[in-house]
Amino acid sequence: MLTKQQIKETQKLLRDKTAQEIIKWALENIGVEKLAFASSLSIEDQVITDMLIKENKKAQIFTLDTGRLPQETYDLIQKTREFYKINYEILFPDEKDVEEMVKELGPNLFYDSIENRKKCCEVRKVRPLRRRLEKVEAWICGLRKEQSVTRHAIEKIEWDDTFGLVKINPISDWSQKDVWDYIKKHKVPYNKLYDKGYTSIGCAPCTRPIKEGEDVRAGRWWWEDPEHKECGLHNKK
Ligand code: SF4
Repeated sequence: MLTKQQIKETQKLLRDKTAQEIIKWALENIGVEKLAFASSLSIEDQVITDMLIKENKKAQIFTLDTGRLPQETYDLIQKTREFYKINYEILFPDEKDVEEMVKELGPNLFYDSIENRKKCCEVRKVRPLRRRLEKVEAWICGLRKEQSVTRHAIEKIEWDDTFGLVKINPISDWSQKDVWDYIKKHKVPYNKLYDKGYTSIGCAPCTRPIKEGEDVRAGRWWWEDPEHKECGLHNKK
């Protein structure tokens, strides 16, 4: 695994590289077996899926099925599998954890408090992700700096304190327009909710379309303060 010092040196090396070059660098220098991509099926993650598969069809790609996803996201998983002829690895939360949580706090616990919302994200997303990331040395994410106040400081490669491994963000400096230009140019499949005013898509009960002028992630946990809007997968440093 890269040391923190090596990560600092690599940050300089990757600073001016394109996203495709960063992905190629990661596959060659970290290795297909030690590198995984966690796709949320967002437009950003669909761009990375396209780049990764074009670089190496054996790249490890997985997604989290929280059990509360919109039907349109399941449709996209199906479509992407067929489009690229790949089998996603789909992670599920521990059934007992979900049963206990819902029994104690109810199925819509996330609306009751930030604490409950974070508990739901912990059970349905963070724990399955942690179990999967223990098997690799680095993960790729589709985070972009301009997505929200919680993401302004991200680097193309950095140490992930939350999960204890290297994190690679190949499109961290892309704009939303860059993402859409790529999607259209390469005819990449995308979630149809984007055509209905959604700009960031998570679980169905925690996502809604945004209004004009709002931050792209304003439709996620819209009832909370922007400073709290991460699910535990990408905590602010
Ligand atoms: Fe639960 Fe909402 Fe988090 Fe999904 S986004 S895991 S439903 S709190």
